Amino acid sequence: MSDFAKKVTLDRRNGYLRLEENEIGSAYEFCEGYKTFLDCSKTEREAVKTSIEIAEKHGFEPFDPETKYAPGAKVYLNNRGKSVIFAVIGKNGAKDGVRIAAAHIDSPRIDLKPMPLYEKNELALLKTHYYGGIKKYQWTALPLSMHGVVIKRSGETVELNLGEQAGDPQFCITDLLPHLSQEQSAKTLGKAIEGEDLNILVGSRPYREGEEEEKNAYKLNILKILNDAYGIEEEDLISAEIEFVPTLKATDIGFDRSMIGSYGHDDRVCAYPALMAAMDCAGIPENTVITVLTDKEETGSDGNTGLNSAYLAYFVEDLAQAEGLEVRRVLSKSKCLSADVTAALDPTYDRAYEPMNSCYVNRGVGVCKYTGSRGKGATSDASAEFVGEVRKLFNDNAVLWQMGELGRVDLGGGGTVAKYIANLNVDVIDVGVPVLSMHAPFEIVGKLDVYMAYKGFKAFFEQ
Ligand code: MN
Ligand code: MN
Repeated sequence: MSDFAKKVTLDRRNGYLRLEENEIGSAYEFCEGYKTFLDCSKTEREAVKTSIEIAEKHGFEPFDPETKYAPGAKVYLNNRGKSVIFAVIGKNGAKDGVRIAAAHIDSPRIDLKPMPLYEKNELALLKTHYYGGIKKYQWTALPLSMHGVVIKRSGETVELNLGEQAGDPQFCITDLLPHLSQEQSAKTLGKAIEGEDLNILVGSRPYREGEEEEKNAYKLNILKILNDAYGIEEEDLISAEIEFVPTLKATDIGFDRSMIGSYGHDDRVCAYPALMAAMDCAGIPENTVITVLTDKEETGSDGNTGLNSAYLAYFVEDLAQAEGLEVRRVLSKSKCLSADVTAALDPTYDRAYEPMNSCYVNRGVGVCKYTGSRGKGATSDASAEFVGEVRKLFNDNAVLWQMGELGRVDLGGGGTVAKYIANLNVDVIDVGVPVLSMHAPFEIVGKLDVYMAYKGFKAFFEQ
């Protein structure tokens, strides 16, 4: 390539062709920590817990709204155990705005209904209500583990985590055998498995006291096991959040180990880098930096632990007030990287993408100027000025990045938390890791992209 061509042409080469060997080594090392995080953080509650554990080791303390923190102070705010904010107070405090990296820690999964337990044809099952956008057929005939909390009659909380440890029992949604699937196979993919078919198999042994057969003995036996193990009664399941997720562990993918397969990359693959960027932020940042790991993105960000609620704005308001500032002025000068995944071009389904404007595995962290569907419906479209700023920041800090849209125009679409933060009059752009098989029980990401997300968020905080 001529020097002129090099100068004026966009470099879109694969990261493995552009990075030094030691940088690739650093990426792989970072991904080992990420894999551990994934396996300990399969639900939003577990992700909050794991993140706080990491943060406390880095000197973060619970946030007290009454305290005026000095530059360099490290605080966290736990919002109901389901979302969490980490902040490092900057030299300038919040006066020139704060720098926010916002990722989500909820993932598509199978929730229990409030009254889930029943028996039919000598099997015990649980009724479920799926959470987030799933292709239902992907969730059958797959080992599942149970995670969550139950609030008992007494008010006591019981934490559940069953199916992850070696030797634990696991659970499963059954599917019809191909031999009898003529009718099912004739249905469209979206209709073949219906929401009410996602019933979890949990037992096949009846309760027995003496010779006489008990009514609902299969269901009763499960209640006995739950009662023995956790002291739970049937009514306790009503005040509970019980989530079933794939038992699969995070693992390297490919002969070359260049990728990671796991449940829940969306969006832990941005949450972990955003968390670690706040942990590893060098020295005291100029402006206060905030990593928010939020809940409920997969269901539209509503609810008091989602970013359509005021909890982030209230936190910034507390910081602003402590410094005698108006929160609206702080927010208006603030900047945010909406740290969420994007689609990676899948060669098997490449007709769903527009190759010029798609992200590719291992070309670096993906930047999306806008999300949405149809004519950019429901998007927050980052300004050219802010795109320019982020692009320069990444270029100046050797962050490998690529630009992409989610897929072909008019084929579908999606959104992130960007618009909710933009509604606070903050400059926001989507920056995240490209994913293959997004929202499937097992998703794939490229290791270089995970590391470049971390480098990108860190550069954003340290600028
Ligand atoms: Mn996401
Ligand atoms: Mn998602």
